[in-house]
Amino acid sequence: MFSDKDIAHFSKLETPFYYYDLNLLKSTLNACKKAADVHQFHVHYAMKANFNSKVLAKIEAAGFGADCVSGGEVNKAIEVGFKNEKVVFAGVGKSDKEINDALDKDIFCFNVESVQELSVINELAEKKHKIAKVAIRINPNVDAHTHANITTGLDENKFGVNSWDMQACADVLKVSANLEFIGIHFHIGSQITNLDVYKNLCVRVNEFAAWFEDHGFKVTVLNVGGGLGIDYHNPNQQIPNFDAYFKIFADFLTIKPYQEVHFELGRALVGQCSSLISRVLYVKNGKKKNFLILDVGMTELMRPALYQAYHKIENISQPQTPNAERSTKYDVVGPICESTDCFGKEVELSETFRNDLIAIRSTGAYGEVMASNYNLRETLRYAYSEE
Ligand SMILES: *Cc1c(COP(=O)(O)O)cnc(C)c1O
Repeated sequence: MFSDKDIAHFSKLETPFYYYDLNLLKSTLNACKKAADVHQFHVHYAMKANFNSKVLAKIEAAGFGADCVSGGEVNKAIEVGFKNEKVVFAGVGKSDKEINDALDKDIFCFNVESVQELSVINELAEKKHKIAKVAIRINPNVDAHTHANITTGLDENKFGVNSWDMQACADVLKVSANLEFIGIHFHIGSQITNLDVYKNLCVRVNEFAAWFEDHGFKVTVLNVGGGLGIDYHNPNQQIPNFDAYFKIFADFLTIKPYQEVHFELGRALVGQCSSLISRVLYVKNGKKKNFLILDVGMTELMRPALYQAYHKIENISQPQTPNAERSTKYDVVGPICESTDCFGKEVELSETFRNDLIAIRSTGAYGEVMASNYNLRETLRYAYSEE
């Protein structure tokens, strides 16, 4: 929710810009940390959701580790102050260079996504006379009941090692002197709002942990990934229910005294702390459609064009009028030369005029990080709340 002071401030700024509410970020981080601490759970922040330097600094300061999916993210995490031993590295396609760099940095763990990758890491570690800590990312074939494009834990997905390849992993691990197996890893998808999904995941985690222990491996780390969703329809209800989320794992995982439970949350930590603020360039009233043409496009926020993601759109210059006659339905679009450059269809707003300020809410996760230079758009601008 924006105060009159916020709106007065925004109206003096050049648009579009990403607005970050760092106070809200801090409250969200504290709520998550507190809820995790109750169970002595460890949380790594999934850096790909947002790697804005100010955001990262807050997350590091709040005591989270970093979950990275590229060499670039590993480097940036360490650069901004995350401790090497709190960095984990996942990804189906780690290049030799990325693996070598991460070995040099003595990161906490590689989350390995194929049998072949195990051998490659062993070979590269051997050349450096290092021991690489590894967890096997397992594809548990659990349906996350989320959008198909952000589901990652089904047999048809490219992520992780399939269950029928566990014996092959065990065989490679047994002959790989430069690998230290520390545990198992899962990540079944993103924007998960049905928490029952995580109960199904816990059942699978218990099965795989037992399998490895039966085959002579000590499983110290149970890493259950992330994916906790946020409420895009109610952006003012801003802090996810971390207590309920962690409680499911405390209740349904079989946790041995020597085992640590690790999480990798991205969206739930940063999603609500940002809005994308733009101005209306043109109002085009048609026979069938009314269009609002904004000065912001898919080049700044790609999620709607990429996977039909919903973001709440608000006209913050015209307070929502109860008078239905003065509200209208608009297709809210950007200026980019692509028909998918549309933020919402038939969006009900107060009657809207050129230069009104429009807020696209809940843009903290997978927003800024996916921005592109297409159409030679200007570089991103920012505004931050006072701390
Ligand atoms: C993207 C990702 C996450 C975080 O997902 P969210 O939905 O943002 O919580 C966690 N782990 C891995 C391996 C990922 O790729």
